[in-house]
Amino acid sequence: MKVEGTVKSVKDQVKEWKKEGLSIGFVPTMGYLHEGHKSLMDAARKGNDKVVVSIFVNPMQFGPTEDLASYPRDLEADAKLCEAAGASLIFHPEPEEMYKDGFCSFVDMNGLTNALCGLSRPVHFRVCTVVNKLFNIVQPDKAYFGEKDAQQLAVIKRMVTDLNMDIEIVGCPIIREADGLAKSSRNTYLNAEERQAALVLNRSLKAGKALVDAGETRACVIKSAITAEIEKEPLAKIDYVDVVDFDTITPVEKLEGSILVAIAVYIGKTRLIDNFIVEK
Ligand code: AMP
Repeated sequence: MKVEGTVKSVKDQVKEWKKEGLSIGFVPTMGYLHEGHKSLMDAARKGNDKVVVSIFVNPMQFGPTEDLASYPRDLEADAKLCEAAGASLIFHPEPEEMYKDGFCSFVDMNGLTNALCGLSRPVHFRVCTVVNKLFNIVQPDKAYFGEKDAQQLAVIKRMVTDLNMDIEIVGCPIIREADGLAKSSRNTYLNAEERQAALVLNRSLKAGKALVDAGETRACVIKSAITAEIEKEPLAKIDYVDVVDFDTITPVEKLEGSILVAIAVYIGKTRLIDNFIVEK
């Protein structure tokens, strides 16, 4: 497995693979990899000849008060996980390699980014710009994204359609800890008490899902049940609880079609997200 830091070295390798007729599966990440990331690599390994993983904490998608500096990093452990998962190449660029002096071109997504995480994290969906760049560098046949970041998955699908990119976007299910907390690099911020409190995310979603399974189709009822459950936890502060159409990320009143029930909750200073998807 190679670890490359420059755009040129990745492009050269990709050119060679393409000449040999090999297909490329791509997994973009910010590193500090866990089982959730590994599940994307496993899917990519199954569906392609070569797997490329990018590890890049993209400064552009962090707001001024967010955790860019403290975001956990461990390239050595990440490389081991990627190697064990059968990846062929890690692309690990420095910010200066990705954003040369004078950089000023952005993918400006409108519709899908004005809700959920896009509201509380105004620059977050600059992730589209970096994913677009990474797609141009890696030239994958398929790219793998977790349903954990469901809005991101919807936004990237839309971008690929709108910009006529010849890449299949594959969504992969959320991988959880044994007690139900969705795996996240940010879980490392939680102290023992907060780690326990964080279980309220999954617990509240389960309460919402139980209503859906019992036939409830009113979004407001599902939202209220989830909100009430979260409010029982003193360390939790709700950022949002929303029920939206999964394709358009617009609020719905009634559960019909593909629906995303998504929450963002502060546990202490750590903002965690979780969701479930309903197909009606
Ligand atoms: P990140 O490194 O947090 O930017 O995540 C990189 C990719 O891994 C994104 O597509 C995430 O949705 C996905 N991912 C992160 N956590 C999980 C998880 N617990 N289960 C499945 N996918 C995940």
